[in-house]
Amino acid sequence: GVNITADLGASNTMGSTAARIIGSNVTKLADFDNDVRIWVHEEMVDGRKLTDIINTEHENVKYLPGHKLPKNVVAVADAAEAVRDATHIVVVIPHQFIQHLLDTVHGHTAPNARAISLIKGIAISSQGMTTMTQIIHRTLAIPVASLSGANIANEIAEERYCETTIGCADPDEAIVWRSLFNTPYFRVNCISDVIGVEFCGALKNVVAVGAGFIDGLGLGNNTKAAVIRIGFLEMRRLAMHISGARIQDSTFMESCGIADVITTCYGGRNRRLAEEFVRTGKPMHELERDLLNGQKLQGYLTAGEVHAYIDGCGVTDHFPLFTNIYRICYEGAPPASIFEGLNVDFSRD
Ligand code: NAD
Ligand code: 13P
Repeated sequence: GVNITADLGASNTMGSTAARIIGSNVTKLADFDNDVRIWVHEEMVDGRKLTDIINTEHENVKYLPGHKLPKNVVAVADAAEAVRDATHIVVVIPHQFIQHLLDTVHGHTAPNARAISLIKGIAISSQGMTTMTQIIHRTLAIPVASLSGANIANEIAEERYCETTIGCADPDEAIVWRSLFNTPYFRVNCISDVIGVEFCGALKNVVAVGAGFIDGLGLGNNTKAAVIRIGFLEMRRLAMHISGARIQDSTFMESCGIADVITTCYGGRNRRLAEEFVRTGKPMHELERDLLNGQKLQGYLTAGEVHAYIDGCGVTDHFPLFTNIYRICYEGAPPASIFEGLNVDFSRD
């Protein structure tokens, strides 16, 4: 075969998990070369380059310790080299670093390349709110799909059964992406709603911050369920506000929607550090630096980006939970103010 897969962002937890799956799957696919190149944001770990550690020990000892990567997965520190000749490019990096990475690979991708984004985040620009697939498409001018779901990376690497959602406009390409990712323990469902999948993945991180505040306040399960319900409805309302009819309502019932809200509000890092935020009073970026060993949070940044958008549109009243979460994160509002103005009528959404 001639197809080569590149994974941009495999130094991180989800990138390594994806490389583990794809590295194994390509050996069973006749259309793909066995080589999977992964780009690693180079760093020193115990005096050694992370790329060297991955290529000799076949393990990302910093971000996915305890899980071997297949031997056909090769780490490189040069992103342009990672994408050269690749027909399938998997993009997975904390969303705050995406544009710089794309600028690095711009001009180095093959003409027949296509990409899939596993990133959970959005960006605000002068044109309004932009998704990661839109940014990738704008920079690289190649077709872009999305993958998101109730997918805590370490649990996937343990090979515990879960589901995920691929959003891909072209049904033939969707089949190929599915063949790269699907396993008996990582069940892929493909839908055509590319933007809906990634909106869900980005916005649920804001709800997870709210859930963590509830845990920090020690208020228990009923209260957290209320925040999850209202958060889910605000996610749906915001998606509709931004895209009109382009995002399908059924997308919210896929793994990328309701299921990811649940898993992140119980098991994710955004939840955990929001709980610490309430307990310690330390700002999110400090907690991220001190507690995550290099891993990155998306939720509090997305809360800021969402707020910039809804405030700019003059519709904060329609999103009281998102607005309260923003004020608690950035304006020193007390965590208990999360409940202010939550009696919104969603019945006509
Ligand atoms: P992570 O938090 O494990 O790792 C952070 C990464 O950022 C590291 O690879 C680090 O090298 C890199 N980095 C730090 N500074 C950088 C810079 N200046 N430029 C480029 N890279 C830099 O990452 P993650 O959890 O895999 O998250 C990546 C994306 O995947 C996010 O959008 C996240 O929401 C999504 N995701 C994560 C999980 C999960 O369970 N971890 C699951 C699904 C999706
Ligand atoms: P956290 O980034 O909050 O850990 O969430 C991971 C995730 O996206 C699970 O689907």
